[in-house]
Amino acid sequence: MADKQNRAPVHLSLRSTSLLQNNEGESGQSATRRDFLRYMALAGAAAAFGPRPGTVSPFTIPVTDMKLRFYPYTLELRHTFTIATSSRTTTPVMMVEVEQDGITGYGEASMPPYLGESQESARAFLSKVDLTRFSSPYTLEDVLADIDAIAPGNPAAKAAVDIALHDWIGKKFGQPWFRIWGLEPAKTPVTSFTIGIDTQDVVRQKTREADIYKVLKVKLGRETDRMMIETIREVSDSPISVDVNQGWKDRNLALKMIEWLATKNILFVEQPMPKEQMDDIVWLREKSPLPLIGDESVQRLPDVRKAWGVYDGVNIKLMKCTGMREAYKMITLARALEMKVMIGCMTETSCAISAAAQMSPLVDWADLDGALLIKNDMFDGATIVNGKVTLPERPGIGVVKR
Ligand code: MG
Repeated sequence: MADKQNRAPVHLSLRSTSLLQNNEGESGQSATRRDFLRYMALAGAAAAFGPRPGTVSPFTIPVTDMKLRFYPYTLELRHTFTIATSSRTTTPVMMVEVEQDGITGYGEASMPPYLGESQESARAFLSKVDLTRFSSPYTLEDVLADIDAIAPGNPAAKAAVDIALHDWIGKKFGQPWFRIWGLEPAKTPVTSFTIGIDTQDVVRQKTREADIYKVLKVKLGRETDRMMIETIREVSDSPISVDVNQGWKDRNLALKMIEWLATKNILFVEQPMPKEQMDDIVWLREKSPLPLIGDESVQRLPDVRKAWGVYDGVNIKLMKCTGMREAYKMITLARALEMKVMIGCMTETSCAISAAAQMSPLVDWADLDGALLIKNDMFDGATIVNGKVTLPERPGIGVVKR
């Protein structure tokens, strides 16, 4: 069934204007000085003479084709993945490519069903993306605001375009994004490795398999919580972060659990209670011996401000917040509010994982194990070396197709 969905790319030719068009059709790997001078000459001449109404000015900046392609793909998970609210063996994604000047930028939308997006909704959204409105693919601030305004929601589909454009621009500049942002790649954090809710035997086996990871992330929120932690502690002393996925409904029980967890070498507790129970979470945070991190509560940039005073930190994910551009702003805002920052993921290929990894030197904790949980990753990109997120030197988001 999965294979049937892995169809050939849908080709959409969307005309887009480029300030750096390359008439010779060469596949430039970086924006050259010659391109820049050509643009400046064109811009200067156009300003001096100006186009007459009704005529095509010889100084009109040339138009080129930025192609947008997208195709559905189904990620096959290594283990059935169970969290407090659902269970599954596959994740639907939509792969996106933008191409211009012989350079292809890759993007991805990962859409676990419980979040409400689907391959159908992504296809409908991406069909409306018209890159011809923009004078340049470099003006990301305008381009992405415009794409965001096409329709509400659709954060993963928007992220796919955002990631592909970032990849394309980075490749055009010949630099990875961590360098464009001025980040030190040696400062990437270790990543946690996720252990889903399961039987004791499977939890024990998964924990042993996760031996190389320095932090384990454990899904809680069901009646098996204590068993999960005790079983892992039978075979591992590694620090654990726990993710309750809104599973605890009663604040007194939540506090009891957290007090017990605090004796088990736990780093923090993610989304302990339903996001709607804001007052309970504030109450819990005042008493909690462990930091509380908002995930489901924190989707986009304005949610960081709302999380201040409620949580100690935020879990930022590209698929929730429409991509790299907004994620970077969320990190900046959270830091200004003196909050902890975690960067997380869905089950994703190395495409979206590598995009998130580019900004990981800025965060306290990373949960970027999404590509490790799948069997059919089509990209090489950021890797995990001795448990640490490791960035490749390649430009853009740093991925190549396998
Ligand atoms: Mg979470």
